Amino acid sequence: MSLLELQNKLMAIKEAGLGAIGQAASSDELESARVKFLGQKSDLKSIMGTLSSFSPDQKKTVGQLSNSVRQDLEAALKERQASIYKIELAKRLESEKIDISLPGLGRPQGKIHPLTQITEEIISIFHGMGFSVVEGPEIETDYYNFDALNTPADHPARDSQDTFYTEVDAHVLLRSQTSTIQIRAMEKMTPPLRIIAPGRVYRNEEVNARKYPLFHQIEGLLIEKNVTFGQLRGTLMEFYRLLFGRELKTRFRPDFFPFTEPSAELDCQCPFCMGSGCRTCGQRGWLELLGCGMVDPNVLNAVGIDSQEWSGFAFGMGVERVAMLKYGISDIRHFYTNDLRFLEQF
Ligand SMILES: [Zn+2]
Repeated sequence: MSLLELQNKLMAIKEAGLGAIGQAASSDELESARVKFLGQKSDLKSIMGTLSSFSPDQKKTVGQLSNSVRQDLEAALKERQASIYKIELAKRLESEKIDISLPGLGRPQGKIHPLTQITEEIISIFHGMGFSVVEGPEIETDYYNFDALNTPADHPARDSQDTFYTEVDAHVLLRSQTSTIQIRAMEKMTPPLRIIAPGRVYRNEEVNARKYPLFHQIEGLLIEKNVTFGQLRGTLMEFYRLLFGRELKTRFRPDFFPFTEPSAELDCQCPFCMGSGCRTCGQRGWLELLGCGMVDPNVLNAVGIDSQEWSGFAFGMGVERVAMLKYGISDIRHFYTNDLRFLEQF
């Protein structure tokens, strides 16, 4: 190749290279152009590799021209690189743009089960009146569940149609009332005492809107000197005033429980219709709230508390029932079917 041809070829390389670099629209295209015109296998490299075959004068001319072509291409490459970077950055910013004024996405939030909520509320009210929480086992003996509570041997509640007995031992059962906890507490503690005993209880019941074989009770027990029925009444009135957030009319009806004497059932004016009658109260205007009474002296004596010196009152309520009254729930099964549409309302 003559010197002139070589010079022409170098100028052609430069022109083609500048054209390719100028047209590159992305980093990838620019890299392809760099490899093609400045890479190890480029025409420019191979021309520079043949320099040794020229005379010194020609070598100088060709060398200078090759270098200047290389420098021009490198400068163009650098310049194009900068502008492509700007273009690509703008594109990226556009694609990653977020509108910080948009409302956030809601995250699903867990809630406390309504029965746990109401239990905590009841405990907190009695806590304020000086009662402390005591707990006991769910698997009990018939002594704590019946005998110590003054339940006669032929009482129907002892029947296996009402109570779940274990198959291993005919005296071992699932407690049917939280009164068992009160007996255990009286055995261990010395009066005066004020306790409430929350917990699960089990009864061999058919499932329907009002009954479920598993439910929760909270029982209360106060043992002090010269306790009166008036004190029991005052304690319960205050409890319901705080629970429902207003004064409710109440009435006591005589009832019978083996471990209290006298015993009573406490009704309150229906908080939904204020006594005028509605579906929740079955048009009666009154709702049954709980059972209560003065602790039978026999029960005190059985646990070694002198009934001549000490007296007390006890009361027990179903937690589901309280929750149903407070929230206007008509079916106890809602608490146990885990339907989120129900649970999310609390
Ligand atoms: Zn009513």
